[in-house]
Amino acid sequence: MTLYDENNVFAKIIRGEIPSKKVYEDAFSLAFHDINPKAPIHVLIIPKIKVKTFQDFARDASPEEMKGFFNGMDHVLRILNIQGGYRIMANTGIHSGQEVDHFHLHILGGKHLGPMVCA
Ligand code: 5GP
Repeated sequence: MTLYDENNVFAKIIRGEIPSKKVYEDAFSLAFHDINPKAPIHVLIIPKIKVKTFQDFARDASPEEMKGFFNGMDHVLRILNIQGGYRIMANTGIHSGQEVDHFHLHILGGKHLGPMVCA
């Protein structure tokens, strides 16, 4: 597991130290609107456990935490009810441009999103 910084922005949002525009929350996950949306719908969902990357989550989450997170994902997608489809992505590390070192999934939609990766 890579070192987790307790003071990253999303850890502060989970602790309620920074406000967020919440979409959904339960014991395992929290979803909120991205502060700088890249599409008409841009929501982030994060697990409440302290993990930095998707791989850390896959390795360190208990079966209950994993199930809880994906159950939260299902709730969020139902709430958003995005027409026309959506994209889910996770940036990891420098080449991806990951800004916040708490594992999160981006949910993007509300328009045609264009190519998956710009050349
Ligand atoms: P990353 O590049 O790490 O995959 O994505 C981090 C995302 O978090 C970015 O899209 C950025 O706009 C968003 N973000 C950064 N700080 C905040 C914040 O304080 N509140 C919210 N709601 N989103 C944030």
